[in-house]
Amino acid sequence: MLTEYHIEIMFESLGDHLGTRALSVMTTANIKQDQFAGQIGHDEYHFDNNAFEKTYAYIEEQRAHAISSLQKQDALSAWTAFGRMTHSIQDFYAHSNYITLWLSRFDGRTPPPPPEVDPVDPGLIHSPDLRSGKVYYPLEILYFSRRWRSLSLRLLPKDSHAWMNLDSPEQGFKFEYALQAAIKRTRIEYEKTMKGLPRELMHLFVSG
Ligand SMILES: [Zn+2]
Repeated sequence: MLTEYHIEIMFESLGDHLGTRALSVMTTANIKQDQFAGQIGHDEYHFDNNAFEKTYAYIEEQRAHAISSLQKQDALSAWTAFGRMTHSIQDFYAHSNYITLWLSRFDGRTPPPPPEVDPVDPGLIHSPDLRSGKVYYPLEILYFSRRWRSLSLRLLPKDSHAWMNLDSPEQGFKFEYALQAAIKRTRIEYEKTMKGLPRELMHLFVSG
């Protein structure tokens, strides 16, 4: 997803729950995953290349890191780790065909509006048809240049990130479903991370 939408998702999903400093540290860690060093060889940051298991392992590793940092009274590390995992969570909806599969259930009928999207339909999350876009370097780089975009799309296969992504509204009506699913899922993952934490550690996480 483009940076501006990661920022929007963070504020929409967690703005009511967290202190300003906590939210800004998390958002910074989230968008840093898209820097150049995080693009090459880090499928788990973005749910790219069908790396579902690797990405789920990465998310749980970051969640565990956030909790152990809180236990050490290190709120900054906890916010940073949580911010990193939210990036992967949000990219799931922009880089996989989850939204396409969800919408296909309403074949021939008008689908519910985007805020009604179910972000954790177990039948789809574990569907054998679930795929995420493959990143074909170096051709994929051309896609990010407006001038070369149409050429790259002509050359890249349909299972590429270039063809499959829902990174921005330019990709059409499915983008809004990806955005709303990412907002809902970020909130679900926040609640999951907080669940069972002692009250003082929860307070340490949300204040700041
Ligand atoms: Zn990303």
